[in-house]
Amino acid sequence: MEPSTLLPQSSDPLPAGSREPAAHIVNIFSSIQGEGPHVGRRHIFVRFFACNLRCTYCDTPESLSGSPPALLEHTPGAGDFTWRDNPLSLEDVAGVALNLATEPHDAVSLTGGEPLLQVGFLCLLIPRLREAGLRIYLETNGTLPGRLARVISLVDTVAMDLKLPQTLQDGRDWSADHAEFLRIALAREVFCKMVLPPSPDLTQVRRMAETVGSVSRDIPFIIQPVTPFGAIERPPSAGEIWDAYGTVRAILPDVRVIPQAHRMMNLR
Ligand code: SF4
Repeated sequence: MEPSTLLPQSSDPLPAGSREPAAHIVNIFSSIQGEGPHVGRRHIFVRFFACNLRCTYCDTPESLSGSPPALLEHTPGAGDFTWRDNPLSLEDVAGVALNLATEPHDAVSLTGGEPLLQVGFLCLLIPRLREAGLRIYLETNGTLPGRLARVISLVDTVAMDLKLPQTLQDGRDWSADHAEFLRIALAREVFCKMVLPPSPDLTQVRRMAETVGSVSRDIPFIIQPVTPFGAIERPPSAGEIWDAYGTVRAILPDVRVIPQAHRMMNLR
């Protein structure tokens, strides 16, 4: 059973009183993919509002609450943003993304928040982007397998987070949902990313590696040392990173430690 959406009712997928498909968007902009094995590639980011989780390290609090307007970039990389009230129509979202695509990009990153909360909108948006020759990169917290099943045939890459219970405000263990999600994601390129906090619980780290291994030992496992933000005051130490690496590497063959590169470059 999937958790109930935290979205306003009007956005999933049709706003009240309208027949037009619409979505709640945080921002749309051009930047460099700063996480995981695609790091360094230029992506168009479409960041969706709302999330069904509450991570202690969340660096996009603007995605989680309130009803903020969307921030839209018009010239790729220029930072010429304007605000637009939510929800945005399919024409608005596709139009802004396709305008940024007038310069070469490797993919459109559908991110959040949790983009699968607005899966009805994704089912309409993704074909529009694919028609323009754009590849689709889905960044997701890996907790909504039923919704992934609706779009898996439309995406090229699934970047799935593994959530350590110690990094969630409610301490929930999502490993069973992660495994179900990964079995669906295997139809496409997929990798997992686990944000490593300071003082990591290695029992939980091992459980995540076992979860991935129970689906496929071929799935790359990225350890991403947390970038201090909000309540997180320090990254894990070198020793803590090595301990986590060794714990995962004892179970899986493809383990990589990759920090957030876009933060180093002061990019979004
Ligand atoms: S899943 Fe992502 S967007 Fe949601 S609370 Fe966690 S870090 Fe934030």
